[in-house]
Amino acid sequence: MGKTNPYQVAIEQVQKVGEILGLEQDIIDVLTKPKRELTVNFPVKMDDGHVKVFTGYRVQHNFARGPCKGGIRYHPDVSLDEVRALSMWMTWKCATVGLPYGGAKGGVACNPKEMSKGELERMTRRYITEIMPIIGPHVDIPAPDMYTDAQVMAWIMDTYSMHVGYSVPGIVTGKPISVGGSEGREEATSRGITYCVREALTVRNIDRKSSTAAVQGFGNVGWNTARLLKDELGMKVIAVSDSSGGIHAPAGLDPINVYEHKRRTGSVVNFPGAQNITNEELLEIDCTVLVPAAMEEVITADNADRIRARIVAEGANGPTSVQADKILYDKGIMLLPDILCNAGGVTVSYFEWVQDLQFLFWSLAEIKNRLDRVMTYAFARVYATARAKRTDMRTAAYLLAVDDVVKAIRLRGIYP
Ligand code: NAD
Repeated sequence: MGKTNPYQVAIEQVQKVGEILGLEQDIIDVLTKPKRELTVNFPVKMDDGHVKVFTGYRVQHNFARGPCKGGIRYHPDVSLDEVRALSMWMTWKCATVGLPYGGAKGGVACNPKEMSKGELERMTRRYITEIMPIIGPHVDIPAPDMYTDAQVMAWIMDTYSMHVGYSVPGIVTGKPISVGGSEGREEATSRGITYCVREALTVRNIDRKSSTAAVQGFGNVGWNTARLLKDELGMKVIAVSDSSGGIHAPAGLDPINVYEHKRRTGSVVNFPGAQNITNEELLEIDCTVLVPAAMEEVITADNADRIRARIVAEGANGPTSVQADKILYDKGIMLLPDILCNAGGVTVSYFEWVQDLQFLFWSLAEIKNRLDRVMTYAFARVYATARAKRTDMRTAAYLLAVDDVVKAIRLRGIYP
């Protein structure tokens, strides 16, 4: 873990899909090289008066299907290759769910946990100013990612607006509602996962009410997914975890009570009536649906053989290794790939952008309805392709996504 170069992985994925689709090398070259990459080194005045130089990136992978879209990450490990890979994955994710976007990603190498709010604000405003030449509401629309939240998005909206002289809410998504954010954004990723799981249970002929779920991670995605699987699908949530460990209660947990316990104690562990387990044990629990919603590469060749869930729904990005994919498929486990399963977040981001461009806002009911339609249709398309090609859901999603992007590139032609 941590050793594989994510950009190399992203390139190999395209090459593999390109072979199946019979794509020529020219088009693979276009797909594996991001269209535009910007590196910026910029100074920020820190609270103690000294000036620190930060390095940031914005990579735009592909514009064939529309403006670029993708989050901004603040993390010490941010690198150009990581941002390149993440921008490519955004292209495939947007295509999988049919959003009229290409992929982008940005990041600043920094440790936000050691920075004050003022330092974060100054760093954000300067980084956005540096990448302003290549972003815009019709060009490239950033969003939150690791360690960037609605407050950071509000600073981005304000910085861009100050430069152009008027308010431009459509420059960024994931904003607070009071500055042009959308209803339902907070739980959008989890709602999308829930719709995907519902469809998967249906095609596998599994009764929802007698189904059980184990969820790894109890942050935004994990906690909301646990809650929605119980409340909207009537499933029994039998295990959840966070970075301190997990809890198991075969009779079922109430995610809201666990949330309250975590808020009070800092973790889900030691929840009354549940047995403490490790994160490794959680993954191997006998359940209907396993939702890895924390980190990358947690299901690998080392443990894939011991996974007992019937469906694995990828809430996190990249939780399953390439080798594990094959092991799960051979065991008959249905894996709902990240570029489909967790695309509810970018879908509601797209809704936010559409609302901002029109200055016309939708109700929560309308957001839910539209998200349901997008996810249900995308699931059906990927599932039909997987059946037709006798392959796994991830390969099917990549086949569809890459093919859609290639079609757009061919229709537009090579300029001039
Ligand atoms: P978050 O920071 O809100 O929560 C992360 C959770 O993971 C926390 O509960 C943390 O305790 C837990 N965790 C950290 N290390 C762990 C470990 N070693 N073992 C078990 N749990 C651990 O993050 P989030 O927004 O919920 O994102 C989770 C995953 O979902 C990430 O992979 C992210 O890229 C992906 N994702 C998020 C969104 C979104 O809209 N938030 C959209 C698409 C994908």
